[in-house]
Amino acid sequence: MLEAATRAAATTVKVVPGADLGGPALIARDRGLLWHPYASLEGDAPYAVHAADGVRLTLGAADGHAFKAIDAMSSWWSMIHGYRNPVLDQALQQQAGKFSHVMFGGLTHQPAVELAERLTAMTQDGLDHVFFADSGSVSVEVALKLAIQYQLGRGRPKRTRFLALHGGYHGDTFAAMSVCDPVDGMHAAFPSLVAKHHFLPRPPAARLMGGELVADPADVAAWIGVLEETVALHREELAAIILEPVVQGAGGMFFYAPQCLAAARRVADDHGLLLIVDEIATGFGRTGRLFASEWAGVVPDIMCVGKALSGGYLTLAAMLCSAHVARTVTDSPLRALLHGPTFMGNPLACAVACASMNLLLSSDWQSGVQRIEQNLAAALAPASNLGSVLDVRVLGAIGVVELTEAVNVPAVTHAALEHGVWVRPFRNLVYTMPPYITSPADVSTIGEGITAALAQVHG
Ligand code: PMP
Repeated sequence: MLEAATRAAATTVKVVPGADLGGPALIARDRGLLWHPYASLEGDAPYAVHAADGVRLTLGAADGHAFKAIDAMSSWWSMIHGYRNPVLDQALQQQAGKFSHVMFGGLTHQPAVELAERLTAMTQDGLDHVFFADSGSVSVEVALKLAIQYQLGRGRPKRTRFLALHGGYHGDTFAAMSVCDPVDGMHAAFPSLVAKHHFLPRPPAARLMGGELVADPADVAAWIGVLEETVALHREELAAIILEPVVQGAGGMFFYAPQCLAAARRVADDHGLLLIVDEIATGFGRTGRLFASEWAGVVPDIMCVGKALSGGYLTLAAMLCSAHVARTVTDSPLRALLHGPTFMGNPLACAVACASMNLLLSSDWQSGVQRIEQNLAAALAPASNLGSVLDVRVLGAIGVVELTEAVNVPAVTHAALEHGVWVRPFRNLVYTMPPYITSPADVSTIGEGITAALAQVHG
């Protein structure tokens, strides 16, 4: 059963075995100086990146070993077209030859206008206006603010709370944190500062069957019942429902029933709430649909996108909203949307995002993602035979192995690197979101590498 994984284990993938590419010295300078995400200053040593090309990273470890590994994470789900993509490189260089940044207050420019036109054209009909933010979290802040300003504009100043989902993740700034999972999120660390909102249980899990996401109908009906009751009970204080459509990412790599998303749309309409979908992780084809909301045929009032927007080149996100929402705020006494970052609409980021979107839409991305889905399902299937594995699931270009216990992150990361694969597990999850350009052979290597690493470390 683990034959393929064992075979991969036998082939060394170290670029230059024992070679020192300068990693140890760099890592030594980093340690104790720099914080890394969700880490202590004295956390595990990072790997040094020496090169990145196509789907591969060349990494150096603190012990001097160097690895060439497939980036099975797409740099946290953003680098969909691969590193050093010539089209994206050129877009960036061309814009740098004109101007790299100008303030967006009182000024505009071609890359921002073109990208906004592109985004409103490619998203579902009904999303007509764009606010550029400098990260996903900030786009969520802006979405929440806009929803409150909308309700103010409708004469409902008491509607300042949100309804979010257990297992949700929307970012690390304070308002975004407040709508993340109340237990696994960071609420407990900042109890007096994180605003109190309402939460629904996680929607029922769904599994991909015959191209559809299928869940137990009784569980779906029960969840919708809870949704209806909760909204009816709290409607006078609720501004909006916020959720990640169909896939909860950082909150558990969890796939849920699209009917729940459709119900959220209906119930929001029935009670005068807005529906905010956070497509930061799911947008731009990752789940097999251009936007995950399409699994439920839902058009939100507000949508946040980020990550793959710039092809993973530069930090950029956007908040889109309907004409009705924008008009209501524009006609309200405040008139303005009260946000405006220094680097809003950064021309380099917008130019590379235009190129990233053109590349995506001019490619047969849907077949590509479907191919990855099939290959991932086959490549990860052997992992389900491991004693430590609770579940293996795949949707679009997302493959997840859920363990019965917390992952030994440094050991699994290192073991996967020995098999030529870069992963960054969390909690009890090892997952992959490979770049869309990943070849079938490389997808197999990812599956084999994850399986072999888990067999080695967890059994
Ligand atoms: N929402 C979702 C669904 C995300 O996955 C993330 C990032 N993982 C964010 C928001 C926050 O985006 P950023 O890290 O760019 O602030």
